[in-house]
Amino acid sequence: MKRTASGKFTGGFIFAPSTEVFKEKWKVKQNEVVTFIPERVYIPTQQHIGAPPELVVEVGDQVRAGDLIAKAGDFVSANTHATISGTVVDILEWPDNSGNKVETVVIKKKDDEVREKRQRNETFESMDKQQLIDRVTEAGVVGMGGATFPTHVKLTVDEDVEVETVVLNGAECEPFLEADNLLMQTESDKIVTGARIAQKILDAKKIVIAIEDDKPDAIQAMKKAAHAFSDIAIEVVNTNYPQGGEKQLLEGLFGIEVALDGLPVDAGTYLMNVATSAAVTDAVEQQEPLINRFCTVTGDVQNKQTVSCPIGTLTGDLIDFCEGFLGDPRKIFVGGPMMGKSIDTLEVPITKSSNGLVVINTENARYYEESPCIRCNLCAEVCPMRLEPQNLDLFYRAGEYKRCQDLKADACINCGACTYVCPARRDLARNITAAAGKINELLQEA
Ligand code: SF4
Ligand code: SF4
Repeated sequence: MKRTASGKFTGGFIFAPSTEVFKEKWKVKQNEVVTFIPERVYIPTQQHIGAPPELVVEVGDQVRAGDLIAKAGDFVSANTHATISGTVVDILEWPDNSGNKVETVVIKKKDDEVREKRQRNETFESMDKQQLIDRVTEAGVVGMGGATFPTHVKLTVDEDVEVETVVLNGAECEPFLEADNLLMQTESDKIVTGARIAQKILDAKKIVIAIEDDKPDAIQAMKKAAHAFSDIAIEVVNTNYPQGGEKQLLEGLFGIEVALDGLPVDAGTYLMNVATSAAVTDAVEQQEPLINRFCTVTGDVQNKQTVSCPIGTLTGDLIDFCEGFLGDPRKIFVGGPMMGKSIDTLEVPITKSSNGLVVINTENARYYEESPCIRCNLCAEVCPMRLEPQNLDLFYRAGEYKRCQDLKADACINCGACTYVCPARRDLARNITAAAGKINELLQEA
């Protein structure tokens, strides 16, 4: 861990005016929750990093929302739950957002399904640390900012590890996405409670909640929710990309530079996305599993909005709920256009980490021919991980994976910043991700 002199994180950039035009055009202006419950959900049993869970239901079973359908297969694994009440009508291999077919449980909604908001019935203060962790484990909470690492594992730190600060990440930096922004406006108390639960488990001295300066309503709501707690600070950070990256946020907040292969906990911090924090509160105080999430549907769709929907909702159903496409869709991203995944079927379900759907139609999609690298170094200047994207790209194309490994391709956070700025239109991020995959394959074979 190294401390830098400046408060700003390394690399990064502000989006070009051409992107800002679309940010305004596709902006979701909403401060109330819109809920959608589809007729069927397609729930992948594994939505986390770690061991696959074991199925505990069969076709024909009646389930209620929140019932366990797949049990964690190991400590580093997570439970998966029914997200609507109804009948298990199929268990099949179904596409996920990476294009792979994965074990999926299909539930048909029962006719009189009503989603009721539960009232708090317990407070975390009366529970000990192990009880708190057990409830998070039971609820299948994972990192909802994209990491999908099981939260109970992350909260279980060695006794000799000192965590001074719990940092909540409200820097939703992907363009067009507003899911965390809306959550901070509508569930601010719950988010603060989740941070206090983590603080209690980790014996942390303080909490910092970081929010980008383009979210004034969220800042106000979170300040109000945190007002009664002298050990909670709201830090307003610049709207730079990728401000929401774990290491970038720590560097921007505290001037702490975590090593490429290090973790935030090495710097005495515990980072958690705001949506994960709300899920922790649901898990602990209401014993409610992670079965729902906010998802922004925007871009070239008729009704741009952030929708609260059950996990397992198909992207096609969600787009229909938003009144369909505007024009002919050319690209659809689950997540944002920078770090999200481009999908080629509307049968992909929303998972625990799907914070948005961004549709780009044929009129707005851009097509570029790549050209040779002109060695301008722009990609290296914006890389928040201090990598050499131009060289990684060249070595990957040449099949020189050992050199990619030497240049730390596996430290790439796939933020897409290098691709975005490259004047030669080279898809550097895609190739560097592929290089990291190759390195991983070779390491496993060795
Ligand atoms: S995608 Fe990877 S290599 Fe490119 S800027 Fe982001 S971290 Fe750096
Ligand atoms: S930004 Fe593109 S053209 Fe410039 S050095 Fe990087 S790869 Fe080469």
